[in-house]
Amino acid sequence: IASPLFAGLPGDCEISFEFFPPKTEKMEEQLWDSVVTLSPLGPRFVSVTYGAGGTTRERTHNTVARIARETQIPAAAHLTCVEASKSEIADVANAYWEAGVRHIVALRGDAPNSDGKFVPHPDGYASAAELVEGLRKLHPFEISVSAYPETHPEALSAASDIDFLKRKLDAGASRAITQFFFEPETFFRFRDAVAAAGIDAEIVPGIMPVSNFAAITRMSHLTGTAIPDWMADVFNGLDDHPSARQLVAATVSAEMCRKLYAGGVREFHFYTLNRAELSYAICHLLGKRPTALAQKAAA
Ligand code: FAD
Repeated sequence: IASPLFAGLPGDCEISFEFFPPKTEKMEEQLWDSVVTLSPLGPRFVSVTYGAGGTTRERTHNTVARIARETQIPAAAHLTCVEASKSEIADVANAYWEAGVRHIVALRGDAPNSDGKFVPHPDGYASAAELVEGLRKLHPFEISVSAYPETHPEALSAASDIDFLKRKLDAGASRAITQFFFEPETFFRFRDAVAAAGIDAEIVPGIMPVSNFAAITRMSHLTGTAIPDWMADVFNGLDDHPSARQLVAATVSAEMCRKLYAGGVREFHFYTLNRAELSYAICHLLGKRPTALAQKAAA
């Protein structure tokens, strides 16, 4: 029986999934289970994050290379330029190219020191825009970059933040993936502001399915993401009820995606945190179903 809320969603949207590189064998297994579970939904790419300052360089590379080798899903590698010289970046990028990876999510990254001030490496790139330009000179990578619907904490203003985004796209990136947010209106306002600035590239909302509210609250303080009061209310009292919390999390995220869809959004990027269930459930509600081809790829 079709739900009246999700009735008729035909799955005509593009999806992608983000993972982080596993630290242990057990985490590797969990990551791989998630990749295998989500692959049949036919994501256009899956991406793997890069630890602050390149701390996961090997692990990110190994994970991306394994996805490229063992699935038919295009794999994208996140790459940051903080604390790295241009030649170190070139080594990493060349290794990806050789491993068959054609898509980079290019980021500046965050300073490792606690005062958080980014200082470019003396022989490095000073911003994500410069990194994009450098990568494009190395190989014809497809490049995605970041965008901030609630404005990056270091931005001088919302307009200057959008100007930085424009520079990254002008330098050769073809799409932006947003920081996570919890109100669809936040995304719609940003989409309008970006369009008003003359940007016509794809702006893909980054969807964070919230299952650990305390952890997301901590992360949101760092990213400048607003946590709506209703969300705190909705998760209140669920600390000792993991299954109920999971159901509530799916409902909250699915409802946001449904509203985004109703507002014309047809691309979604899921921060999976290496767990498949929530993202799978939300995609299912958006009408995504396993495809025979993708199932074969994941087998
Ligand atoms: P930029 O686009 O270069 O800058 C971000 C903003 O800061 C600009 O828009 C601008 O407003 C402001 N700014 C920067 N420099 C200046 C300046 N000189 N003067 C004035 N304003 C300035 N981090 C990781 O470590 N690894 C990852 O894998 C990773 N993946 C991410 C994926 C996505 C989709 C997103 C949204 C973020 C990710 N991050 C990751 C976090 C990212 O590294 C941080 O947000 C970092 O602080 C900024 O990187 P950026 O590429 O957005 O930088």
